Amino acid sequence: MTASIAEADTAAAPFLEKTALEKYVAPAKPSLVGISRDALAAALGTIGVPERQQRMRVQQIWHWLYVRGARDFTEMTTLSKELRAEIERQFTLARPEVAAEQISVDGTRKWLLRLPGETDTRPHEVECVYIPETDRGTLCISSQVGCTLNCTFCHTGTQRLVRNLTPGEIAGQVVLARDRLNDWQRAASAGVEGEKRLVSNVVMMGMGEPLYNFEAVRDGLNVVADGDGLSLSKRRITLSTSGVVPNIARAGEEIGSMLAISLHAVTDELRDELVPLNRKYPLRELMDACRNYPGASNARRITFEYVMLKGINDSLVDAKALVRLVKGVPAKINLIPFNPWPGTKYECSDWEQIEKFSEVIFDAGYSSPVRTPRGRDILAACGQLKSATEKLSARERLALRAMAMTG
Ligand code: SAH
Ligand code: SF4
Repeated sequence: MTASIAEADTAAAPFLEKTALEKYVAPAKPSLVGISRDALAAALGTIGVPERQQRMRVQQIWHWLYVRGARDFTEMTTLSKELRAEIERQFTLARPEVAAEQISVDGTRKWLLRLPGETDTRPHEVECVYIPETDRGTLCISSQVGCTLNCTFCHTGTQRLVRNLTPGEIAGQVVLARDRLNDWQRAASAGVEGEKRLVSNVVMMGMGEPLYNFEAVRDGLNVVADGDGLSLSKRRITLSTSGVVPNIARAGEEIGSMLAISLHAVTDELRDELVPLNRKYPLRELMDACRNYPGASNARRITFEYVMLKGINDSLVDAKALVRLVKGVPAKINLIPFNPWPGTKYECSDWEQIEKFSEVIFDAGYSSPVRTPRGRDILAACGQLKSATEKLSARERLALRAMAMTG
């Protein structure tokens, strides 16, 4: 038997990263949903569509898939019957399969998605959460089954990494949300007549470390942002990373989304413990990467996420050090109430302490989400947590995180 993750963690040389235990095995009939334009052209090539026709065919299929929300090839009436039949022999329009759906009273929806495993008997599962708000609707999507990393306060970090998601599975989460919410006919911005789209923002804050699945995340998000398709502006897409420094600049250049950094500590000593990847890429390197993030400006700030852990990182000395640390970076700071999970050694900071902490940040001139109504909601939820810590559902956990992100 192989050593468990917990054993490996206490070994003399603590591991920083896990390796994938399983690979993605494409189904016999692959889905065309969520793959890049190049991959779609290549797929058409395999069924004999001549190269000179491929661009046009890709454009047609793209429109059916991402503007009209086609779920069946028969809907694609701009393609000949013969071509449709040939495509259908080799490919599907399958979305990630919904294993369970939960809808809360406030409209938040959580989908448990079943993805193919290496064998039919062991499918993989990830979560995708939709959080409606008054002026936007945020979809929180996953990049990996489990996570390459092992942050000590994160439940996902305790899981063995199973595998990376494919670009199709990443963009497929947005397609699936549009299906389930009947969101295809709504417009990006609508006047009195029309209805506005329900999924207006995407945060990559579900399971996994996106910058350890770089190419798939890049390709998937580029499908989501494609102006002739799903059309979510890159300013409405936020990628959250625990600090994979070499890929931060690359993300700026090749993805160009908004960036969030899971900071959580202001000294290397503490961050080494909370986010063990810090031992590889310490704070100075991380902050340099932020300072140089392509496209960062006062209008496009980098979000620093800071999980509030009682007695660990929540002193006012920490708050002042946080302000000093982000100096010179166009920054927003999101304080996230810690959401406990069974077996964790951490607790969420007290409400009063979070307020005092946030005051320091606010006084230094940073927008501080706990001062907004949304932030209060989050804090209220965190306060409730203290009396019912283990009862917080995964949906609530994700919703809180995503709301903190977009507030
Ligand atoms: N792996 C990426 C994105 C997914 S995690 C990252 O770490 O940034 C999304 C956010 O939720 C991160 O800021 C993460 O640190 C935070 N998070 C993880 N576990 C949490 C918990 N139990 N309570 C509150 N926030 C948590
Ligand atoms: Fe992975 Fe992010 Fe959790 Fe760290 S916080 S273990 S990087 S999902």
